[in-house]
Amino acid sequence: MTASVPATAAPAAEPVLRRPSLVGRTRAGLLEALAEIGVPEKERRMRVGQLWNWIYHYGVRDFDAMTTIGKGLRGQLAEHFSLDLPSVTAEQVSTDGTRKWLMRMPSTGPHDRGAEIECVYIPEVDRGTLCVSSQVGCTLTCTFCHTGTQRLVRNLTTEEIVAQVMVARDRLGDFPNRRPPEGAFVPNDGGRFVSNIVFMGMGEPLYNFDGVRDAIGVITDDQGLSIGRRRITVSTSGVVPQIGPLGEEMGTMLAISLHAVRDELRNELVPLNKKYPIKDLLEACRNYPGLSNAKRITFEYVMLKGVNDSDAEARELVRLLKGIPAKINLIPFNPWPGTKYECSDWDRIERFSEIVFRAGYASPVRTPRGRDILAACGQLKSETEKLSARARLMLDEAQADAPAVAAE
Ligand code: SAH
Ligand code: SF4
Repeated sequence: MTASVPATAAPAAEPVLRRPSLVGRTRAGLLEALAEIGVPEKERRMRVGQLWNWIYHYGVRDFDAMTTIGKGLRGQLAEHFSLDLPSVTAEQVSTDGTRKWLMRMPSTGPHDRGAEIECVYIPEVDRGTLCVSSQVGCTLTCTFCHTGTQRLVRNLTTEEIVAQVMVARDRLGDFPNRRPPEGAFVPNDGGRFVSNIVFMGMGEPLYNFDGVRDAIGVITDDQGLSIGRRRITVSTSGVVPQIGPLGEEMGTMLAISLHAVRDELRNELVPLNKKYPIKDLLEACRNYPGLSNAKRITFEYVMLKGVNDSDAEARELVRLLKGIPAKINLIPFNPWPGTKYECSDWDRIERFSEIVFRAGYASPVRTPRGRDILAACGQLKSETEKLSARARLMLDEAQADAPAVAAE
């Protein structure tokens, strides 16, 4: 059974022009904001430190709560900026505690309703993992992935990526002096409720390299959200030239969506393989900066019935990965309306997993979580996309015609 909480804010009633939010900004972005409102240069760095602490450590939603900042500057900040988070237009809670939020990002102009994305929270006893998106939709067209069928695509900004973490912490009460909602399933090990991040929502993170890198800078900052780089996993379908830079500039854990052991099949499942074949991809993995037994690469392998799930393929998988410190993650395929694939039978998955396990790899089959709320990998797709092109145009026009509400 699914508990569905109705929209918390009605998007139609929102003003078209709002004061820009400071939430999600990098330190450089906050410096700019202070310069814009004329804060003297010699004061700015100190003020950024204060803002940073209030926004990312305490998660405050009101400038008036920033008691280390004088009333005058607080007023000035409130006049020009907000601390708004994207509006959560729907929240669904699965029977297993998984939560899915549908978020609408602030509009970027009169013709933009604001990007709509989904974000999934998966609680366990000793960790809470947030699955975030890096793009709206995806330009790649992996044949088994629902996101890949979405036509509207754009990169999310750094602010929009960070905002997903802020919304999750806010909704879960994961800030000092705050509490989780009544009855919520959150980790009980005394740690943060959002302790891990995986870039496995919508989009190809390595096609939004700068946005993701800067967002990770904000998320890992130990004066703020303070989530360690080892607790962040970036999943890629195999953008080979960016794998080295990912390790050097972001230093996160790496996951590779492999899904096939032969180029011919991988070309079909993950068309990017035609550009960067398996051999080149694995070479980039072998050279991943910081790779060690303590810092292994996760290879994701979606189990597709009769397509990639034979014993021979399991053995070939093990052979291919020889010498790479690796974990293998077998993912039961999540079907979506209109797909031509089916998930492998359970005994087939077990047999496959056994071969991988015997070769010395831990091969957890990823337990499907949140299935009742369609929160699983590859199923995230924006609602806006489901509107016809004409309906979207009409919506855009309606927004454009709406009287602009000036910032107060
Ligand atoms: N674009 C990146 C990250 C987002 S997809 C990537 O491809 O790695 C996150 C994971 O979900 C990938 O391993 C992807 O292959 C997998 N996935 C996509 N659609 C799926 C589906 N329908 N069932 C199971 N896993 C799926
Ligand atoms: Fe894009 Fe990843 Fe889906 Fe492929 S699996 S279409 S890269 S989101």
